[in-house]
Amino acid sequence: MAEETIFSKIVSGEIPVKILAETERVMAFPDINPQAPVHVLVIPKATQYRNVVELAAAEPETLAEMVAVAQQLADELAEGEFRLIFNSGANVGQTVFHVHAHVLAGDLKEQSLV
Ligand code: 5GP
Repeated sequence: MAEETIFSKIVSGEIPVKILAETERVMAFPDINPQAPVHVLVIPKATQYRNVVELAAAEPETLAEMVAVAQQLADELAEGEFRLIFNSGANVGQTVFHVHAHVLAGDLKEQSLV
């Protein structure tokens, strides 16, 4: 059984969030601690994938859907351009082990990293 994380509680509705986009397989909501003018998290609803490598191997179509949702949100909330970040592993800063894409948008020219 998949480990419970903050994001699995968001998927189940136990922790309420402002849903910005949702499909059968994917949902998106604002990061609680934004690092950019627009900072949205896009996650799969499936809870068993700890990082993007596991998701890409098992469900590449869900990963493609996450990228499409990122573009849709960047179109709606910014000028259509965005930075997509997947942290994979605690040593590079991953804190929630339910795969998620950070979608950063707005003027990021002065900001080199998340
Ligand atoms: P990571 O460091 O694992 O790549 O990113 C986890 C992200 O989840 C962080 O940017 C953090 O601010 C965000 N986060 C952690 N807990 C919550 C929460 O309860 N709600 C929301 N919306 N974001 C969260």
